[in-house]
Amino acid sequence: MRTPRVEFDLGKIRANSKILCERLRSVGIDVKGVTKGVGGDSQIAAAMLDGGVTGLADARLSNVLKLRTNGINCPIALIRSPMHDQLAELVASCNISYHSDLTTLDLLGQAARDANRCHSVMLMVEAGDGRDGLPIERLEHFVAAVLNTPGLTLNGVGANFSCMQAVPPTSAALMVLSNAIERVESCLRTKIACISGGNSTSLPLALAHVNLGRVNELRLGEAILLGIEPLSGRVLPGLFDDAFVLFAEVIESSRKTRDAPLSNEKLNTEQSLTNLNQAVLAVGTQDTDIHGLKPPTTMSVLGASSDHLVLNTGGTQLAIESEVPFRMNYSAMSRLMNSPEVIKHAVN
Ligand SMILES: *Cc1c(COP(=O)(O)O)cnc(C)c1O
Repeated sequence: MRTPRVEFDLGKIRANSKILCERLRSVGIDVKGVTKGVGGDSQIAAAMLDGGVTGLADARLSNVLKLRTNGINCPIALIRSPMHDQLAELVASCNISYHSDLTTLDLLGQAARDANRCHSVMLMVEAGDGRDGLPIERLEHFVAAVLNTPGLTLNGVGANFSCMQAVPPTSAALMVLSNAIERVESCLRTKIACISGGNSTSLPLALAHVNLGRVNELRLGEAILLGIEPLSGRVLPGLFDDAFVLFAEVIESSRKTRDAPLSNEKLNTEQSLTNLNQAVLAVGTQDTDIHGLKPPTTMSVLGASSDHLVLNTGGTQLAIESEVPFRMNYSAMSRLMNSPEVIKHAVN
């Protein structure tokens, strides 16, 4: 089979989704499966849904359109604020979208009315991560604006954590959000249905049965796909962390003698660089995040350029055309899955 190739195991992704959905359901939390890290791959989306997620979420409208074209018809949320020229397509393809801007909401209402549709809104609150979201003290104003815009309904309120800063959410932060929601509910005499409490970094808190206040939804990508808790990198109990494997092909193999280490491209200096077996592979920084690749334990990455990856292959000299398997982190995975050069191959 051709390379570079990512093989992903749909059975493992389905199993990860199922375990997380069951554990979270037992604490009153519903899961949305996030597909942006796999370029909106519809087979992976279907595996997440088989595992029990009640809807999908993606940051890019192009991925949502791909999911729809490939027959996925569950509820899909756009979790990045849309650009104004996307609103008609957004209303046509997504049931729900995330917002933090009043002008955009006004135009969204117009787009929904033009299409004779009713579109659900999630309001995104900035809860300390410093990326996007409306200030919490403006929540009431935003809720009222959505309720007063024909064509829009309020689905709920969400917050982001650990997107820009590697700081996990705390119970206290989620209680601040919950209290603000309850104040708004009583001022406006309304009920806010869905409270979305973050991404995979919220899992340790949720699974530890800590009080999450009104949170009843999480949006999970990395934990389902790679089986890990992103901030610690720890494998979550019972989950597969090897659903994705990259195969790259050897295009040069030699025994090298070096008396000085490689220069700046060097990623790993653990091994002695004199007398090593070196292989050059046909994959590079244009395809993936090389720092996020993990070669087999007997090998180490010496460096990479745009189209080549250089491996110290330890005691063995690899044959030309042989394939080397790599495990990967989220950054490496998402770039591979979004690269048109990389073959994607589902196994089950
Ligand atoms: C990417 C993203 C997620 C999913 O994050 P994971 O760490 O992969 O679980 C959730 N919410 C938003 C808004 C996102 O952009």
